[in-house]
Amino acid sequence: MAASPSSPEQNDFREYARRWLQENAPPPPPERLPMSPLEIMTVGQRNYLQDWQGQCHAAGLIGCDYPQSYGGGGHTNFQPIANQELGHARVPFMINIVGLSMAAPTILKHGSEEQKRRFIPGALSGGEIWCQGFSEPGAGSDMANQQTMAVAEGDNWIVNGHKVWTTLGHFARWMILIARTSRHHKYDGLTYFLAPIAGHPGVTVRPLVKMTGESGFNEVLFEDAVIPDSHRLDDIGKGWAVAMTTLTYERGAAESAGGTGGQSSDPAQGLIELARETQRNGLCAAADPVTRDALMQRVIAMEGLRQSARRARVPGLCDHPMRLPLQQKLLSSENHQANARLGVEIAGAASTLYKLDPNAPRQGYWPLSYMASYGNTIAAGTNEIQRNILGERVLGLAKSK
Ligand SMILES: Cc1cc2nc3c(=O)[nH]c(=O)nc-3n(C[C@H](O)[C@H](O)[C@H](O)COP(=O)(O)OP(=O)(O)OC[C@H]3O[C@@H](n4cnc5c(N)ncnc54)[C@H](O)[C@@H]3O)c2cc1C
Repeated sequence: MAASPSSPEQNDFREYARRWLQENAPPPPPERLPMSPLEIMTVGQRNYLQDWQGQCHAAGLIGCDYPQSYGGGGHTNFQPIANQELGHARVPFMINIVGLSMAAPTILKHGSEEQKRRFIPGALSGGEIWCQGFSEPGAGSDMANQQTMAVAEGDNWIVNGHKVWTTLGHFARWMILIARTSRHHKYDGLTYFLAPIAGHPGVTVRPLVKMTGESGFNEVLFEDAVIPDSHRLDDIGKGWAVAMTTLTYERGAAESAGGTGGQSSDPAQGLIELARETQRNGLCAAADPVTRDALMQRVIAMEGLRQSARRARVPGLCDHPMRLPLQQKLLSSENHQANARLGVEIAGAASTLYKLDPNAPRQGYWPLSYMASYGNTIAAGTNEIQRNILGERVLGLAKSK
């Protein structure tokens, strides 16, 4: 079955996006970029990536399907095309992942006209970086267990609490924040805010270091921080419902406001090259039948993922609207982990060399990728939770506790 036919305008747009990306791919970064937006640490990396997102937005590849009055392109179904072309072009990733894939779509659905005009353009252009303040020390998978309190005082809310694992918090101008506005109701006691972060009195951002040695996420402390009521998104007590909109986008069940990119190389090709370059007992690792078999398993898995992504674009092949997108996030993160594990195994003892060691194969890519891959199976809801959601909402199994 063929994919639903593209309109002539969509075909022209694809052509335009492809050509623009070929002609405008950015120069190499002034310093090494991290593997993903989750580990952006330096001002140099931020400036380079912010500039790149700004260029892509100005070229009409970001926010394509958003109304022009909110900084978008005013089209319909152009964003998936732009996202595909950004992925194929192997250009740097978009820095403002929270802004694009969570804040903008949530504000578009739940925001007032004033909030949409104020916040969406900066999220699309990357001029204003966003972070997400959902997780707390005691509220990760059990997200409704929020303890951060927001207490009304005149036209303001006084916020006290402790958020954790806040990606990009150190560069963020704004945070999508869930806070408790009532202790009497678990779900209906939550309210959603667009909270000022950078330089805001009462807000402290402290970096956390991952096992890769990189930071990129933070803990964020609110101590009597004042948030105007005009920054409340939707009604008091509707925070849980608004957060569900955010999670639909974060977990991949709906198209973001733009932009993937960021795959610097084809992982299967990278593994094959590594095997060809690696010597084992005087023999090339690529000649070892066990390694060849493991490589083929990875190639087959990646081809399966690619075909699932294609299938997701054919409405007639999607039995349940959420199945393939949710499945894709789960399997891609496990695929990343399996690829990285094989890379580390092939490189053998050389995998102990860190990225700063001049003798590290591919500048230490495989061990770094292996360590980082664990974050991918936790972030945006752990894979166990993703399996629960697939089981309950897609397969209709009994609800887990
Ligand atoms: C790289 C990275 C970036 C992140 N960025 C952000 C961010 O920007 N903003 C933000 O708010 N959060 C962020 N997070 C936090 C992330 O959302 C949480 O780590 C995640 O929701 C899990 O919560 P937790 O760490 O508290 O683990 P817990 O909820 O304590 O879970 C511990 C273990 O128990 C399992 N478990 C828990 N409940 C169940 C259940 N019902 N059924 C089966 N198994 C269960 C989990 O799968 C997990 O293995 C990030 C995390 C990572 C790793």
